[in-house]
Amino acid sequence: MKSRRNFLQKLSASLIALPALSDLELKTVHSNDEVPYEGPVLKVAILGLGSYGTRVADAMQTCTRAKLVGVISGTPSKITAWQAKYGTPEKNCYNYTNFDEIKNNPDIDAVYVITPNSLHAPYSIRVAKAGKHVICEKPMSMNAAQARQMIQACKTAKVKLLVGYRMHFEPKTLEIVRMRKDGELGKIMFFQALCGFRIGDPNQWRLKKELAGGGSLMDIGLYAVNGSRYMVGEEPIWVTAQETKIDKVKFKEGVDETITFQLGFPSGAVASCLSTYSMNGLDRFYLNAEKGFAEMQPSTGYGPIKARTNKGELTHAHVTHQTVQMDEMSDIILAGKVPVVPVNGEEGLKDMIILDAIVAAVKSGKKVSLR
Ligand code: NAD
Repeated sequence: MKSRRNFLQKLSASLIALPALSDLELKTVHSNDEVPYEGPVLKVAILGLGSYGTRVADAMQTCTRAKLVGVISGTPSKITAWQAKYGTPEKNCYNYTNFDEIKNNPDIDAVYVITPNSLHAPYSIRVAKAGKHVICEKPMSMNAAQARQMIQACKTAKVKLLVGYRMHFEPKTLEIVRMRKDGELGKIMFFQALCGFRIGDPNQWRLKKELAGGGSLMDIGLYAVNGSRYMVGEEPIWVTAQETKIDKVKFKEGVDETITFQLGFPSGAVASCLSTYSMNGLDRFYLNAEKGFAEMQPSTGYGPIKARTNKGELTHAHVTHQTVQMDEMSDIILAGKVPVVPVNGEEGLKDMIILDAIVAAVKSGKKVSLR
């Protein structure tokens, strides 16, 4: 963006003097559009080289303002493979025992924590103590108390804390947020989110309470919680929730299979949400408002996202979510850019408070106030 803006400024300045420019000079001016970005670049190390870490690393290959420069892993063979694939220098490779030494490495600005959920808080706090900016995957932590500790650690260390909310940079999502903010949809009345997939391998960490912090809700249900907030544009004031469990062997105590929950907002709008590990292909948002509607299906997958409103289909081009996310996060960290939908620790905490309340509502069977 910046190089394009600079180019446009240069071009309009040159156009004033157009008669004086030769064909060759004009070509040079035009070819400047291809000039690589020369502004600040966020140098990132990825901690946790699993399936999503690999997706982020691949997506970062086409970033302009962020660069993958380091790795942190407990598996030496993975480090070697990543070095070969991404050209990561030896001096930027760490394991879980020695990565506090990253504080002496000026070639790394930020660490992106992409491990099982239970490790988000402890590793993020270690990264902050090493003086590096933290980007942490969703869910930010196991509960709101941990999220508060992470925010405090980053404040104390004077580093930024961001949560990997890739949908907050997705063009069709942002267009619906814009329509809602500009009043084009009128008063928001109702939001529905259906989020789920059939989970496979019964032995994976996502089905272990100590590593996942729960079941579908912490993983895919979070998109419904987070989406409710940015689609409705308010913070919920109450929660009700119900759990159903068919497979008690696969989904052990504390690991939910399916949770339905409802959120109430100050304006009177309500959200009705489904989170599940037992139904395939559930990826749908529906927003109903007095003057119109917005519908997204798929709504939070890797895309292409499909969306339409009462005004018709949204035709914004598909972007690789993680590429845009990392470029935008570079602007947030290095240039203080304020995103349309926040991705900071406080934003993550708001979701964790609601997740805690949903779990409490399931347990008590009662409406839980969030005031
Ligand atoms: P994964 O199992 O594929 O990878 C997890 C990585 O953490 C592995 O490399 C594993 O070796 C490492 N690890 C470190 N300590 C571990 C331990 N004690 N036990 C198990 N693994 C350990 O999982 P994933 O799908 O990459 O998910 C990682 C995180 O990314 C999760 O928090 C998940 O919610 C998040 N995620 C986010 C998105 C998104 O779209 N934003 C998508 C998928 C996953």
